[in-house]
Amino acid sequence: MTHAHRVVVLGGAGFVGSHLVDRLLADGAEHVLAIDSLITGSERNVAHLAKEPRFSFRKHDITQPFDVDGRVDFVFNMASPASPIDYAELWLETMRVGSLGTEHALSLAQAKGAVFLQASTSEIYGDPLEHPQRETYFGNVDATGPRAVYDEAKRYAEALVQAFRRKRGVKTRIVRIFNTYGPRMRLNDGRVVPAFIGQALRGEDLTVFGDGKQTRSFCYVSDLVDGILRLARSQEQDPVNVGNPDERTILSFAEAVQRVAKLTRPIVYKPLPQGDPKQRRPDITRARTLLGWEPKVALDTGLAQTLEYFRGVV
Ligand code: UDP
Repeated sequence: MTHAHRVVVLGGAGFVGSHLVDRLLADGAEHVLAIDSLITGSERNVAHLAKEPRFSFRKHDITQPFDVDGRVDFVFNMASPASPIDYAELWLETMRVGSLGTEHALSLAQAKGAVFLQASTSEIYGDPLEHPQRETYFGNVDATGPRAVYDEAKRYAEALVQAFRRKRGVKTRIVRIFNTYGPRMRLNDGRVVPAFIGQALRGEDLTVFGDGKQTRSFCYVSDLVDGILRLARSQEQDPVNVGNPDERTILSFAEAVQRVAKLTRPIVYKPLPQGDPKQRRPDITRARTLLGWEPKVALDTGLAQTLEYFRGVV
């Protein structure tokens, strides 16, 4: 974004949203308004901006209608519970923010003539049978399993975004975000990065679910935010994967955390949650060719920075 832009970030006090806010302000945005219900986000994530005149925060649940004064150039919809534990607990909130919340967000973009960017997810691909996952893959999603409240809300949101583009002329972008990690993740959100780091720092055993052979591909948050901004500035209307193709088993990821934390706590095995995808790796050909984007931060570097943050939190 340039100095001339006024931006609204929905979910702006969340993990990814708050990093996006920081980068927008660092890039010289005229004004950034973060809106967040704070059900999984936290005001602590934007507390360092309290004296920033170009920033404001509004506590609001976007499943309720809302308006924003003045000109808006970009609307980023990052609002949703996103960890498996959170969306299982906050199932109705998750379904409502993907449906009603996204509709309200799109209506705002329409009214303001703003570019709208939707944070979608690799969960669109479910437990994928195509590997790595290209944007053209329709996915292997269980519509009634425990992950469905999140997966189907996000799939509905993608459909709604494309319909607002086709029927109402809204300029839309869709980013499919793969596993991302970094500072400001919630320690107890159940996801593997804060779980392992928290366990390592507390001197507890690392809990690997299943046999640990399932794979994920972890992207550092600054790389993700860079991809999101490149997409927002582009003209690309179809979904674009943004993630790190560096695929690892969860077991080798646990070993990476041990290595970076210099703590070799034992690994203990726990039951695999129902519906846990067996493999996940983005094909980032579209991001590379359309956006000139690829991740830059190596896992050990990103983990060291994340560990530093969690040392102050645990
Ligand atoms: N996982 C694990 N131990 C934990 C938390 C998660 O082994 O304490 C595994 C989980 O079963 C999954 C992977 O790590 O295979 C990533 O889980 P996460 O909840 O971070 O995100 P997901 O990619 O499943 O949405």
